[in-house]
Amino acid sequence: MLPTFDPRDTEAGSRILEDITSNAGHIQEQVLEEILTKNASTDYLKSFLNGHSDKGLFKNKVPVVDYEDIKIYIDRIALDGEPSRILTNESITELLISSGTSGGKQKWIPKTAEEGERRAFFFCLLATVQNRYLHGLNDGKALFFVLINPDIHTPGGLVLRTSTASEIKNRKDRYPEVIMCEDTNQSLYSQLLCGLVQRDAIVSIGTFFASGLQRIIKFFEEHWQEMSSNIRTGQMSDWITDPKCKRTVSLILSKQMPDLADSIDLVCQEKSWEGIIKKIWPRTKYVQAIITGSMAQYIPALEFYTGRLPVVSPAYVSSEACIGINFKPLCNPYDVSYTLIPNMAYYEFIPIGNHEDPNCTNSKDAHLKDHIVDLANVKIGQHYELLITTCTGLYRYRMGDILLVTGFHNITPQFKFVQRRNVVLSIDTDKTTEQDLQNAVTIAMHILEPLGFFLLDYSSYADTSSIPGHYVLFWELQLRPNDDTPELDQVKMEKCCSLVEQSLDQEYKLLRNQSNTIGPLEVRVVKQGSFNVLMDFYVSQGTSLNQYKTPKNIKSEKAIEILDSRVVGKFYSREVPNQVS
Ligand code: AMP
Repeated sequence: MLPTFDPRDTEAGSRILEDITSNAGHIQEQVLEEILTKNASTDYLKSFLNGHSDKGLFKNKVPVVDYEDIKIYIDRIALDGEPSRILTNESITELLISSGTSGGKQKWIPKTAEEGERRAFFFCLLATVQNRYLHGLNDGKALFFVLINPDIHTPGGLVLRTSTASEIKNRKDRYPEVIMCEDTNQSLYSQLLCGLVQRDAIVSIGTFFASGLQRIIKFFEEHWQEMSSNIRTGQMSDWITDPKCKRTVSLILSKQMPDLADSIDLVCQEKSWEGIIKKIWPRTKYVQAIITGSMAQYIPALEFYTGRLPVVSPAYVSSEACIGINFKPLCNPYDVSYTLIPNMAYYEFIPIGNHEDPNCTNSKDAHLKDHIVDLANVKIGQHYELLITTCTGLYRYRMGDILLVTGFHNITPQFKFVQRRNVVLSIDTDKTTEQDLQNAVTIAMHILEPLGFFLLDYSSYADTSSIPGHYVLFWELQLRPNDDTPELDQVKMEKCCSLVEQSLDQEYKLLRNQSNTIGPLEVRVVKQGSFNVLMDFYVSQGTSLNQYKTPKNIKSEKAIEILDSRVVGKFYSREVPNQVS
C-alpha cells in the first residue's frame, strides 16, 4: 500500500521521503513479495516458478530478459487479444510506446490502473522536492510544453500511446485543453502564443527532454513574427483550426495588444538570440528539462538560450516505471544524481567492470545471474545496468540504462545516469558506445568552442560502402551570435576529426592504425535546422516529440539521406591516432 498525502503538503511529503529512503531494503522486499504473490499464476512466471512465489526461487529461476524476449507475450496481448494474465494479474488497460533505445526502435510496455496510482504517488513526491527547493514557483505560472500524438488501437483492442499522452488523457481535468490537441504544429503554436500573452506571469519554463526545448526555440524562431502579429491584431492565424486550440487561445487573445507585440518584436529582432528565454519571459526563475545521459550534449545550447538560468533535471522516468528523483534540483547540470524511489518497482543491478564493454553483459550469459545485486548491496563508484521487475508484467527486465552509484540518501542509492547500453558504431571488432562517442565529441569541440561555436546536435553511422569502412559523424554547429552559415576552418575541422579518433578506445585505434581495417573518421557539417528536419522525419514515423531523442547512430537510409542532402562541409582526419594515450 502506498502512503497518501496532499502534494501541496511539503512537510508530509518530506516525512514520507525520509521514511521510504530509510527503509528502502525492507520496502524492496515487500514490493517483490507483492509482485510474486500477485503474479505467480501468470503463464510467464508459472513457466519458471511452477506457481510458487518464493523470492529465492525467483532469483534462481527467472531469467534476465530484453524486450525481444518478452515481445512474444506482449504481441499475444496486443495483437491477438489474449488476456493480460499471461503476463500480469493486474488488468492491462493501455500499452505505452517507449522510445526505448535511442536507436529509434519502439517498445510497447504494459500499463495498468494500479501502475497509474504508483505514478501519481511518484509525481506527488516529485512535487514535494520541487516545492521544497524551487522557491517562488507558486508566485506565477509554469509554461510547460507538452505534445501528444493521436492514439493507435491494436488489433487486440488495446490503446497504444506514449506515457505522457496516457497521463494527460487519464487526468484530463488537471491540464489545459490546448495540450490535448494532437496536431504538433497547432499545439506548439498555441502553447507558445498563450505563453507570450502571459509573459509577465511565467516563472518557470519546461519540457521533458532538453532536445525538445531546443526544438521549441527553433519553432519560435520560425513563427515569432506571425505570433506577434496575432497579438497585435487580437486575431489568431487561420491555420489554427483545432477547436481545443481555438477555444483556449481565443480566451487569452481577446483584444488587440500592440504594446505587447512591440516588446516581443524588440527582443526577437536582436541579432543574437542568446538569453532569449530570459528576455521573453523575464520573471523565469527555472528551466525544467532532463539534461542527463545523452541529453547532456544540449547543456551548452540551453545555457546559451536561457541566459544561464538554473536548469532543473527533475527525474528519471520511463515507460517501464518512474524510477528516480533528483533531490538537489538546483545542482550543477553535470552533477545531477537521482535517488531511487523504492516503492515503484523491484530493482536489481548488473555490475559493469570499469573498462568492460557494457554489451558484453549478454542476457544469455549463464554467469550473469551470479553477479546481480539488489538495492541493499550496490557500491558507490560502481557502474550497473538496471534490471526491473514490476507488477505490470516485466520480470528481471533490462532497462538498457547504465547507472553510476554516486552516494546514498539515508540507505537508498543515488546514481548518475551514464548512458544507454547500446553500441552506436561498429566496424569489425570495434564497438563504440554512445558514451565513448559523446566523450570524444565533447573533447573535439574544445577546438571550436574558443571560436564561438557550440554543437547543436550530432549523430553518426558506420559507412561501409567503401573499403575500409569508416565512421561518419554529422554535426550541426551554431555560432554564438546567430549567423546563418558559420565559417569553417579546414585545418581546425580536420583537427577535430583527429581528436575524436584520438579519444576513442584502443580497439578503434588498433583497427585504424595497425590493420587499416577502419578508414579516417569523417565529420560532415550540416546546415542549420537539419536536425529539426530529422526530428520531423522520426515524428512522422510515429515517435512522439516529447520522448524524442536524436538517434546517435542512424540506421535508416532515408534519415541518412536527409542529413546528407544538407551537408555544407566534409572533413577527414589527417592523422593516425596515437595508440599509447
Ligand atoms: P521512454 O520510455 O520513451 O520515456 O524512454 C525512457 C528512456 O529515456 C529511459 O530508459 C532512459 O534511457 C531515458 N531517460 C529517462 N529519464 C532520463 C534521465 N533523467 N536522464 C537520461 N535519460 C533518461
